[in-house]
Amino acid sequence: MVVKKKKQVKSKINKSSSKSKKLLKSKKREVKKATSSIKKKTSLKSKKPTKTKKRNQKIYRGEEHFLASIEPYKIKKNEKYMNARQKKHFFNILNSWKNQLMLEQGKTASHLQQSTSNFPDEADRASHEEEFTIELRTRERERRLLNKIDSSVEAMKEKFYGYCNLCGIEIGVRRLEARPTATRCIDCKTLEEIHERQRYG
Ligand SMILES: [Zn+2]
Repeated sequence: MVVKKKKQVKSKINKSSSKSKKLLKSKKREVKKATSSIKKKTSLKSKKPTKTKKRNQKIYRGEEHFLASIEPYKIKKNEKYMNARQKKHFFNILNSWKNQLMLEQGKTASHLQQSTSNFPDEADRASHEEEFTIELRTRERERRLLNKIDSSVEAMKEKFYGYCNLCGIEIGVRRLEARPTATRCIDCKTLEEIHERQRYG
């Protein structure tokens, strides 16, 4: 399990550094470079010091990647829904998701600071601005997601995490793993989507 995760992280690092199209170096150096540039970006973010522990920091490759990396919870026979172990499982998921998203938010802040002077050429600046707009939209989506995560953590404290907020039934471990911030059971969610489609579609 640990080995698998390490491999995933490594391949993510390789992917992200190959994107930067810079010097061709040995893989080891690429990884080292990628890691150190992330550290640099993190340290540039001076306003909000994060409580994130270094060892929990992973490169965030979007919601889908994160959800795919969740280690499925092993449900024991007759175990109670939302027992302490299950709560811990989901708390860890929510927490590491939150940490990764907060790191992403910090990256944009430092990007913004260095964005104006770096592109004297107008065409470069235009494409950079477009790229930046897309990035801002992504960050906005992530910010909304962060709010949802906070609500989920809050719900966990109030002991209604994992239960549908419309009909009260158990949302279920597997559905929560696919969507850790879910507040509705699959039936209520499906009905809601049908109604929305009827109204707007
Ligand atoms: Zn429901």
